[in-house]
Amino acid sequence: MLLTSIKSAGALLEIDLGAVRANYRTLSKQLNGKPCAAVVKADAYGLGVEPIAKALWEEGARTFFVALIDEAVQLRQILPDADIHVLCGNLPDTEHIFCDQRLTPVLNSLEQVQRWANRGPCNLHIDTGMNRLGIDYQQLDAIPSGLDIDILMSHFVAADEVGHPLNSLQIDRFSHAVSKIEHKRASLSNSAGIYLGDHAHFDLGRPGCALYGINPTPHLESPVLNPVTLKGRIVQVLKIDTPSSVGYGATYNLQAGQKLATIAVGYADGYLRYLSSKGVVYVGDQKAPVVGRVSMDLISIDVTNIDCKEGDLVDVIGKHNTPDLLADLAGTIGYEILTSLSRRYHRVYRGT
Ligand SMILES: *Cc1c(COP(=O)(O)O)cnc(C)c1O
Repeated sequence: MLLTSIKSAGALLEIDLGAVRANYRTLSKQLNGKPCAAVVKADAYGLGVEPIAKALWEEGARTFFVALIDEAVQLRQILPDADIHVLCGNLPDTEHIFCDQRLTPVLNSLEQVQRWANRGPCNLHIDTGMNRLGIDYQQLDAIPSGLDIDILMSHFVAADEVGHPLNSLQIDRFSHAVSKIEHKRASLSNSAGIYLGDHAHFDLGRPGCALYGINPTPHLESPVLNPVTLKGRIVQVLKIDTPSSVGYGATYNLQAGQKLATIAVGYADGYLRYLSSKGVVYVGDQKAPVVGRVSMDLISIDVTNIDCKEGDLVDVIGKHNTPDLLADLAGTIGYEILTSLSRRYHRVYRGT
């Protein structure tokens, strides 16, 4: 969003590209020398595909995945020499776009395989248990020979749950496909899969969320850094004189003597309404709970005993309240917190 002055911004979204690059190095190291691709679908999980893709390219990433053809066309403009793969594959009558833009489809069905015919290199997705995308692992015999397969891939259902029985089943089913179908590179592991160990790595890692600071090992301390800070502006400070309530629906009762601050961040900015009376904001290192309902453009926080004034910035997302932590409070996952970050925030990219 166009900014008149830094002081006019309701909220500043700061993204530390250095942290994203450090996360790429951490994941590469975890892969023990196997190459590491980067998944930059959904505008790089909401962080902004242009600066993120450029930073990852500079860090050495060459293979990129997006979900949609149009995301790939956008990425081609950003990275003219990257190896770009489209997870949803060639929708009917889109094959020419792949050829024109030098994109590689992930073929997910025999129909996609048929339409692709012999247009050049492609990827093939084997469904080893998700029942979402891909050719069923029991139908390998139906796959025509003669395809020029670059990446043979599959996707974990529950890699973030160590010991989930599907993890080893999927590795076995995929290994079988790898032995039967000719290909150049085999790829199974998303961020969490990379932490399941060497037997899950095959030839290429395919992380998304961990690049952006989501913990790929939720049962352990996070091996990656959170690059996201969201600073919300205090637009009003209120002292409460008489017992009353705050916000729509009067869902949160106030006592005389409480002090509130109103922050210019709301559900229209992706601050999920489910965080009503659940979210936490930090004023410096002091915790201030969200009180009452999240509204479209505003939240109220309790700052009784916290020194603050109109115009100050508070951490709506930061080192104490990471996307993962907010996700826990909201009953969702960090992915949804990140991909909900709005375009209305003034964005500042730090590091290169
Ligand atoms: C989104 C996606 C990834 C990345 O997953 P993360 O859990 O974000 O690391 C990898 N592979 C496929 C097929 C995906 O759809």
